[in-house]
Amino acid sequence: MKLIDLIKNADGPFYSLEFFPPKEAEQLPGFFAAADALLEMNPLFASVTYGAGGGSQVNTLEVARRLTRDCGYRIMPHLTCVGSSKERIVDYLEQLRSMGISNVLTLRGDVPKHLLAGDGRFDWSREAFRHASELADFVREAFPDFGLGVAAYPAPHPESTTLEEDRGYTSIKLRASDFAITQIFFDVREYIDMRDRLLARGVDKPILPGLLPIQSFESLRHVLALCGANIPARLYIALEEANRRGGAEAVREAGLRFAVEQIRRLLDAGAPGIHLYTLNKAETCLRIAEAVGGLRKAPALPVAV
Ligand SMILES: Cc1cc2nc3c(=O)[nH]c(=O)nc-3n(C[C@H](O)[C@H](O)[C@H](O)COP(=O)(O)OP(=O)(O)OC[C@H]3O[C@@H](n4cnc5c(N)ncnc54)[C@H](O)[C@@H]3O)c2cc1C
Repeated sequence: MKLIDLIKNADGPFYSLEFFPPKEAEQLPGFFAAADALLEMNPLFASVTYGAGGGSQVNTLEVARRLTRDCGYRIMPHLTCVGSSKERIVDYLEQLRSMGISNVLTLRGDVPKHLLAGDGRFDWSREAFRHASELADFVREAFPDFGLGVAAYPAPHPESTTLEEDRGYTSIKLRASDFAITQIFFDVREYIDMRDRLLARGVDKPILPGLLPIQSFESLRHVLALCGANIPARLYIALEEANRRGGAEAVREAGLRFAVEQIRRLLDAGAPGIHLYTLNKAETCLRIAEAVGGLRKAPALPVAV
């Protein structure tokens, strides 16, 4: 079943979750224990990340298989096209199909460092796909039974030259797919502004806001460096203050309060659901869900499709 049908028919806002495949086999038991615990949130679906360049492709497939078969999650694996061939992409999608998985998040990915030329450039002319929208077009054509999600950026994608350019390309990508999940953001106005600009361009596909529960200063800095999100100065100062007074524990608590407030404001603004970047940790997400309260249940889960 395509996720878009469940999203449209959900009887109220819902949670969805992001997991990343653990690198080491010994991390798997802890990973699946966290995933099992998070079922309590009754997520509509969970997504599983994919290493651009193919590094963790096998892990993505294996984790997606087990989350579907053993935990009963409805899974949407990610797929990046940079550095990949059409044959490899077809093979990946066929493997998903054989597991009963029929939704995929189509992404371009970032060029892995080892594929960059000495001057830091990348030769796109040899690529099967140049942009996520091209990958989405291909999958829709070759695998019409698949539901498609794409990425959207409340703070424009770092490579965009202008905000309007970013919104223009995002609207093309959304027209080729069913819905979007956003990059991490910390200012709710960025999400609302992006959604409204897309609406003004005639694109009204669901856009799930992606939220990162702040767990520590270190992980926040790491994520900010990776994804190019903006952080409001007021939030940064409050976290710094919490860190000075109460260390890591106080930062986590402040992060939790901030996430709850962010979710309430997003739901008030009409967000269809909340996509949580779990970082494979259950406790903070469960505490957030408990504090938010009142989020309606998604349709019952254990349909491995
Ligand atoms: C929800 C989410 C999940 C993610 N999961 C993963 C993951 O699992 N693995 C991973 O490696 N990375 C992941 N990423 C990161 C993502 O791969 C990077 O942000 C990457 O730089 C862009 O991918 P994209 O799909 O948005 O690319 P695109 O949509 O192709 O956009 C890339 C850039 O090209 C521009 N652009 C788009 N179309 C055109 C066009 N037709 N002409 C000219 N310019 C254009 C865009 O404005 C943007 O600046 C994720 C990001 C998000 C938000």
